[in-house]
Amino acid sequence: MRVPLIIFCLLVAVIPAMIQSSIFIGSVRREQISDRMIEMKNQGLILSTKLGSSGYMQNVSVGQALNVEMATTADIFNGRIVIVDRNYRVIADTFDLSLGKIYIAEEVIKCFQGENSSRYVEDRDYFALTLPIYNVLDSSVIEGVMVMTVSTENMGLLPDRLGEQASFFLLVLLIVVLLLVIVLANLYFRPLVALTAALNGVADGNLDEDVDIGTYRETKEISTAVQRTLKKLKAVEQSRQEFVSNVSHELKTPITSIRVLADSLMGMEEVPVELYKEFMADISDEIDRETKIINDLLTLVKSDKATTKLNISQVSINNLLEQILKRLRPIAKKQNIELVLENIREVTADVDETKLSLALSNLVENAIKYNREEGWVRVVLDADHKFFYVKVIDNGIGIPEELHERVFERFYRVDKARSRETGGTGLGLSITKSIVQMHNGALKLQSKEDEGTTFTVRIPLNYIS
Ligand code: ADP
Repeated sequence: MRVPLIIFCLLVAVIPAMIQSSIFIGSVRREQISDRMIEMKNQGLILSTKLGSSGYMQNVSVGQALNVEMATTADIFNGRIVIVDRNYRVIADTFDLSLGKIYIAEEVIKCFQGENSSRYVEDRDYFALTLPIYNVLDSSVIEGVMVMTVSTENMGLLPDRLGEQASFFLLVLLIVVLLLVIVLANLYFRPLVALTAALNGVADGNLDEDVDIGTYRETKEISTAVQRTLKKLKAVEQSRQEFVSNVSHELKTPITSIRVLADSLMGMEEVPVELYKEFMADISDEIDRETKIINDLLTLVKSDKATTKLNISQVSINNLLEQILKRLRPIAKKQNIELVLENIREVTADVDETKLSLALSNLVENAIKYNREEGWVRVVLDADHKFFYVKVIDNGIGIPEELHERVFERFYRVDKARSRETGGTGLGLSITKSIVQMHNGALKLQSKEDEGTTFTVRIPLNYIS
């Protein structure tokens, strides 16, 4: 940004000065030329009158003094004077080049007809003037024509000097503006440099870097955006650390139990076979639990990945729910829980059958697990023109209002002991939420402690990736 700004300031400062100085020098030059032309005309007029009145045209030899005057005038103006008689013959020439030659030119002919001319030929740097020489006796008869040409080439001395001065002035202006702009640009961009340094600090991994450059509104806005990003990053980092520590803890628990069971078996002498069997069954249960945690974790990690592809196909959601309920009915029966499916309408939707089946199973399983004796679970399927809705309603133990957000966190369980008893890992709802979101859907929870819970899944009928 600095270089374009410097160039821009230089152009804005120097170009108008250049234009102005060239306009000024041009006008000085024109003024000088016009002064010179007037002066030359006057001198020419005096000379032509003298030539006329002295009878020069009739007898050139009488005008010796006039020849000298002509030569002097031509010298003064750095020009040439030519006298042409009625036969268009050159009878005097201060350069002595065309003496005796015929000189027929438009302005000479016109001058004989009584029309004076004066013209300035700018591109060839000269000025030409024709004046009539009248008869000494009859001033209405034109005897000859005086042609004066003056070079304007050397007339530029003053403008040239002015030009040199202007160039010097422009150079000084350029240097001053350049220095000034560099200093100002450095001051102007100082907050951006500070911001870059702070952002580099963040890039080096220092998430606590104080990014707050409020000098300009823009830097303030960038700082606020960066602070918000940093806050999110810190939250992500914290949740990552929590997740890792939760995972370690959850994985350690069954292993600790196995170790305690094994140690106590080893510490006993002459253990009865039944006790062995009982302890080994417990160890086997703990291994199952460990396996379930690992499997759930893998499922979660897979569905967490933004890149995970869904295997979308047209699936009858009614059939899908029927199969889920068929599989879970024996578990519900064990706890005397009534499991009902209400199909309000037939629904076919674009979904990943395996993943959605897992998500809905988790909800129905939870409704059975966290229920009461002789409770009930109702699964209701409905749809509108855009979405289908699966409601899993139970009249179980419910979830306290303040924990509604938390139950979706990984490893979060309201009642650790109960969840453990029922083989829960605390990952089920995280997995379900993640799968529903992959389908561009939403998962809602309504629940009252001791009254029951309703989870509502809303998923678009047509999948748009
Ligand atoms: P878990 O493996 O422990 O079931 P989830 O992630 O599936 O883990 O559920 C998290 C917690 O939410 C559970 O431990 C339980 O306390 C609570 N919960 C989930 N579903 C229900 C429900 N239908 N009724 C009451 N509590 C529930």
